[in-house]
Amino acid sequence: MRSTVVVLLFALALAGCTIEVVPPGGTPDAGSAPRTVDARVDTAAVDAREVDEQTAVSVVDEYWRREFARQGEVYDPPRVAGGYRGSSGPSCAGQPSVPGNAYYCPPSDFIAWDDSLMAAGYDQIGDAWVYLVIAHEWGHAIQARLASSQVSRAIELQADCLAGAAITGAANEGLVQIEEGDDVEISRALSAVADDFPWTDTSSHGNAAERTANFNRGSRGGVEACL
Ligand SMILES: [Zn+2]
Repeated sequence: MRSTVVVLLFALALAGCTIEVVPPGGTPDAGSAPRTVDARVDTAAVDAREVDEQTAVSVVDEYWRREFARQGEVYDPPRVAGGYRGSSGPSCAGQPSVPGNAYYCPPSDFIAWDDSLMAAGYDQIGDAWVYLVIAHEWGHAIQARLASSQVSRAIELQADCLAGAAITGAANEGLVQIEEGDDVEISRALSAVADDFPWTDTSSHGNAAERTANFNRGSRGGVEACL
């Protein structure tokens, strides 16, 4: 994805301004993602990923700022604690960070992610990965701002739905460009690394088909479709 207006919205034009994620059965190499993260540090790759992380944060934040304004609501964004390594991340309610995870901490209202989770997805899948992870965690922050009656019991799948609404909504508003292949990257992100990281654990987040269906619901129907 890119944040500047440079290329035609090829995927959007084809899909009617919706990111359509193909079913996980149609993706290559599902489940075959490497389980180890290369320990070598590629400085340029790290820089590129960190730029994408910062862009994803600003794009998703701006989308929700506008959405709350449309609803006549005051928007107070969550804090972004950003990347951490292993168990050295910010604790949440006294609990240490979990290696390989990304999370939203409700009592302290912040979002954090393990650099290794971002790096693995970025390297194996592509830049759409960081947008998905950040938009999903932001979705949990949005849930914390909703009336309890609007928060689904399937809290992880609703966060995927809100991520779809935010990414596609941001693209429709010109905040981010969807590049050809981003839809495939997001589909692979929702399925290919399942169970390799706590963040993609099917027991807590739903299986790949459920995650894909919920992302698509938000992508097609917007925020209302997720509530
Ligand atoms: Zn989640």
